[in-house]
Amino acid sequence: MKVMLISPPASSAVKEVLGTTGPPLGLAYLASIARLEGHDAVIVDSLAEGIDLRELKLRIRSFYPDMIGITATTSMIPDAYDVARVAKEVNPDITVLIGGPHVTFLPEETLNECKYIDIVVRGEGELIFRELLRKRDLREVRGITYRDGEIIKSNPAMPLVPNLDEIPIPAYDLLPMHLYRFGNLRFGTLITSRGCPFDCIFCSSSLQFGKKWRAHSKERVMEELRILHYEYGVGEVEFLDDTFTLDRKRAKEISREIVKEGLDISWTASSRVNTFDLETGREMKRAGAHTIYFGIESGSQKVLDLIGKGITIEQSISAVKNAKKAKLRALGSFIIGFPEETEEDIKKTIEFSKRVGVDLAQFTIATPYPGTRLWSIASKMGLLLTKDWRKYTTLDVVMKSFYLTERQIKRMLNWAYISFYLRPKMILIDLIRNRGFILRRAVPAALKFFLRKEGVKELRKEISKL
Ligand code: SF4
Repeated sequence: MKVMLISPPASSAVKEVLGTTGPPLGLAYLASIARLEGHDAVIVDSLAEGIDLRELKLRIRSFYPDMIGITATTSMIPDAYDVARVAKEVNPDITVLIGGPHVTFLPEETLNECKYIDIVVRGEGELIFRELLRKRDLREVRGITYRDGEIIKSNPAMPLVPNLDEIPIPAYDLLPMHLYRFGNLRFGTLITSRGCPFDCIFCSSSLQFGKKWRAHSKERVMEELRILHYEYGVGEVEFLDDTFTLDRKRAKEISREIVKEGLDISWTASSRVNTFDLETGREMKRAGAHTIYFGIESGSQKVLDLIGKGITIEQSISAVKNAKKAKLRALGSFIIGFPEETEEDIKKTIEFSKRVGVDLAQFTIATPYPGTRLWSIASKMGLLLTKDWRKYTTLDVVMKSFYLTERQIKRMLNWAYISFYLRPKMILIDLIRNRGFILRRAVPAALKFFLRKEGVKELRKEISKL
């Protein structure tokens, strides 16, 4: 069988700001499985390759697959539907599958919204995909929701992969690896663990990958790193684990292995402020880590408790301090606009972002993604403003607040960026440490975004407040 795995053409805020995207690893795992099962697989990363729907259609026509698999996050869902439509225009007999976090939690809605999709793959995709390739009768395939004539049927869930090392190495050779770049370096990603025992209200990770944390062995992690570095010349790596430091002992062991191997890579990883300490930071730094990402989320303890983050303000201060002592850059994520958050709470968050000492800050608007507890609450309480999935970007307001208007939340998001990055101290640090990256790339991209949404008059008003 010929299998084509597709990341749809879509606009990406990440690409706009950083000028890069990461490899669609989920598709690369599936491609590996397809090949092991004896099928012919290709991957099209439309975003990295800069191809539009018309060109994608030509690719589908030329490869003429029997099956296509599409991956999409919530904001890319309309783009995924377009891909399904053009695939069926090429050949109505192509089997069209879709996977990813959004469709996992809205499988029936997805099939109702898009008549060109045949099968929704729910949750962790690898074992389900293998079963789909092996079995002819869809009734026997666990973890899918599919059409049986006019009826939509859902099969029982597929258990999670018990031992992650059983999943084959992603088919990096099918990805346009030369196109993933970070500055002058080739850029690669890897996932060394899955699942999360925490329960943040805005996140669906534990529902998709389980509450039990599962990890690859350090031997497997090193094997993937070697492939990325020696075969593809990757110099900059991002560990995409939800919390790379969940098991600090393991994080340190991997760091030591990188040093022992003499791998010349620089890298970033995510942590939680309560699963990070100075010793771990130092080992990571020694192994080439330069930036650590913390979900700090709020400067108001009341909000942190409401969103079930399970951290304290003091833990954030201490984690950032330790990261800096270890000479790591700290990137803090902050979320504003939860329904019960007041203007005062948001102001506290913006002030805290400056006080906590992070080097970089990412501000987003609370977004009730399907599958999250926030989604259930917002749906039950009638707080959803739209189901226009394109707006589920974390930069648009899609959920009502009890205290603030849509416009107020957007203005506060803009204000958060402007007041964090356009401080004289930040400008100076940016010029010295990043050769003005933020001023050259991030700020113009943010301003472009702002101007598109608000216009010149609003921008003048915001700047005059500085
Ligand atoms: S935000 Fe991070 S810590 Fe919280 S549930 Fe999601 S993955 Fe776990």
